[in-house]
Amino acid sequence: MSKIGFVGLGIMGKPMSRNLLKAGHSLVVYDVVPGPLAELTEAGATRGESARDTAAKSDVIITMLPDGPDVEAAVLGAGGVLEGARAGSIVVDMSSINPTVSQKVGAACAAKGVEFLDAPVSGGEPKAIDGTLAIMVGGKQEIFDKVSPILQKLGSSVTLTGPVGAGNVTKLANQIMVACNIAAMGEALVLATRAGLDPEVVFNAVKGGLAGSTVLNAKAPMVISRNFKPGFRIRLHQKDLRNALLAAESMKVSLPFTALVQQMLMSLMNEGKGDLDHSAIVNFIESMAGIEVKKSIAATA
Ligand code: NAD
Repeated sequence: MSKIGFVGLGIMGKPMSRNLLKAGHSLVVYDVVPGPLAELTEAGATRGESARDTAAKSDVIITMLPDGPDVEAAVLGAGGVLEGARAGSIVVDMSSINPTVSQKVGAACAAKGVEFLDAPVSGGEPKAIDGTLAIMVGGKQEIFDKVSPILQKLGSSVTLTGPVGAGNVTKLANQIMVACNIAAMGEALVLATRAGLDPEVVFNAVKGGLAGSTVLNAKAPMVISRNFKPGFRIRLHQKDLRNALLAAESMKVSLPFTALVQQMLMSLMNEGKGDLDHSAIVNFIESMAGIEVKKSIAATA
């Protein structure tokens, strides 16, 4: 079995590491924060002294970090993965980042004879815990085939979507659809509530039709019950849409809806709502209408 290094033990990386340990892999872990490192070493992992040390002790090095600059620092920076990685080893970056950064990091790895895949995930903490993430991968087929058995311990769907960068393009496509879907749902439910209807009745009436979606089923009940506990945070979705717009600009593609929702997310962050669930995109539309999506007194009477 391959020796695996894991760098970045946050909300996602910690349960993913635990699943690799449970599957019997020998694991070296590293994070700049000591708390999760101690938890993972107690669970049986070896503590890496740095990203470089972690890579030097591993055949496959997984990174799960917040954004592109963090991946560049941890992989390409001083004391980083590339200083320790042996030729022939494989770096799998599972962070959600700008695909052009994936390509830059992939090229730097290739120059050292190190293989690289970008493999961002969808599903959030519950699916990271259950090992049922959706994993979207960019890279060479033969490297994907080598790493696939490891990724299958972390996710129930593991798909190669193209060359390096394709995993993150797919993830950005996913994030565009989710964000715009929540915003559209917000406009629909604000209108229905303003008209004096019970939003829950409207939700139940439409969910089986063409407007029905996984997003609607997951997020409408949260909005109606005024539960904005994350889930997936506003600030992370803002980061993803910013990366989508940066990637789109580099390809001369205009994404008007994405730009609009990205502005809503930014405004919500400035209101101190960055750590609410992304279903709180609806709050932006509510504030423009001066109404909250919940049962009206008329509807409950
Ligand atoms: P997080 O902030 O909880 O964890 C990131 C971890 O990386 C932290 O523990 C941090 O200390 C560590 N770190 C940062 N820089 C480092 C460095 N240079 N070296 C070593 N460790 C470093 O983030 P998360 O929620 O686990 O998300 C990770 C990635 O997964 C993000 O790109 C995010 O967009 C994506 N994602 C998150 C979710 C979710 O629901 N949280 C869902 C899908 C995808």
